[in-house]
Amino acid sequence: MLNLIYYIETYGCQMNLYDSAAVRTLLNQAGCRETEDPEQAQLMVINSCAVRGHAEERVLGRIGELKSWKKGKPGRLMVLMGCVGQENGESLLERYSQLDLVLGTEQYRQIVAHLESLLKTGKRTAITGLEKAGPDLSIIPRFEKQVGAFLAVMRGCDNFCSYCIVPYVRGREYSRTSSDLLGEIKSLAERGIKEITLVGQNVNSYLSCGTDFPGLLAQAADVPGIVRIRFITSHPKDCGIKLLETMAGNQKICRHLHLPLQSGSDRVLAMMNRKYTLGQYREIVSTARKLMPDLVLTSDLIAGFPGESEDDFQRTLDAIQNIRFDSAFTYKYSIRPGTKAAQMPDQLGDEVGQDRLARMISLQQKISLESNLADIGKTLAVLVEKAVPKRGQMMGRSPGNKPVAFDCVSGVSPGDTVKVRVNKATQSTLTGSML
Ligand code: SF4
Repeated sequence: MLNLIYYIETYGCQMNLYDSAAVRTLLNQAGCRETEDPEQAQLMVINSCAVRGHAEERVLGRIGELKSWKKGKPGRLMVLMGCVGQENGESLLERYSQLDLVLGTEQYRQIVAHLESLLKTGKRTAITGLEKAGPDLSIIPRFEKQVGAFLAVMRGCDNFCSYCIVPYVRGREYSRTSSDLLGEIKSLAERGIKEITLVGQNVNSYLSCGTDFPGLLAQAADVPGIVRIRFITSHPKDCGIKLLETMAGNQKICRHLHLPLQSGSDRVLAMMNRKYTLGQYREIVSTARKLMPDLVLTSDLIAGFPGESEDDFQRTLDAIQNIRFDSAFTYKYSIRPGTKAAQMPDQLGDEVGQDRLARMISLQQKISLESNLADIGKTLAVLVEKAVPKRGQMMGRSPGNKPVAFDCVSGVSPGDTVKVRVNKATQSTLTGSML
């Protein structure tokens, strides 16, 4: 038994939130106890993200700051896990004397054994093998948000989009068995979880013993006690009619599709190795909207990819204007060492990227506001997530994943689904009254 008091900091995507939750379970099983105060902790775990240069710099900056934490009390231990650990391995131990253990993206499963070995030998190590370090875990993550839980259905990615570091730091794609996943969803439902978000780098290519992703979604939605199923992220090249029909035919599957477009230029999409054209993307959207007129569509977009001309960029702006995403994550292209795009000539530099990003954000913000204003007068089913006593309000989400605020009503608690008539909207939030 380790019996340590630990503190976890998580950076990055839903997959990292899931991995941190898994680490909590493993540490708790080893007799450890979590604290929300880093000063009380004997063990600090940083779960890192390397998807963009900025995210990586943030994590490395934080490790730098934590030198004083490490020195604050003798015997304190610091572990870095996740994508930055996978990418940089051993070199981080040389650069940061405060780090005791660096774990790659598949090694978190063995965190307890690695810590035991560290305590026994005192040897600082980096363990970054991408082979599965143990079987798929049937652990029940303890999530902070009690109403909803993330569940990783697959790990890794085989797509090798030319700008993306994920296939290098998370390894080859594999799907977890549907029987394990359904067992975990049942356990989560028994513990009062109402909403499950199935996560993976490319959930559409999930396949396990004959069960594909639409099949898994339908089975997950059938679990008693679960009122909503979401999923993220979909790749347009694998987003077929079966998925859309499954969504449309099952009210428990939320009417929200996060479908990264990345660029509106076919030339740039080809350079990105995305394997679809704008026309194919638009066909998927058109089918999805026909099947689900209330669908909320969100996306990821990159500005300033190497070689992107002003004309290419204008095509992206035109696509944003024509497709009208309800919201989108917009990014400036970020060089990731080791990727194909990092070797491409004609890197555009910061100024062009910033300028294009600003134009993209400004257009998308206008459309997001219009999308939310169009909800005024509608009645939405809101799954309540929390009360915000300071504002006298409760917060929840619509089926389309839009945040909705409404005045506190006695007898309503997190986990309830209520009807809210929308009477106000900003670009990010809807506000209304409970019916
Ligand atoms: S699909 Fe492309 S962008 Fe997404 S994780 Fe895989 S390689 Fe990266």
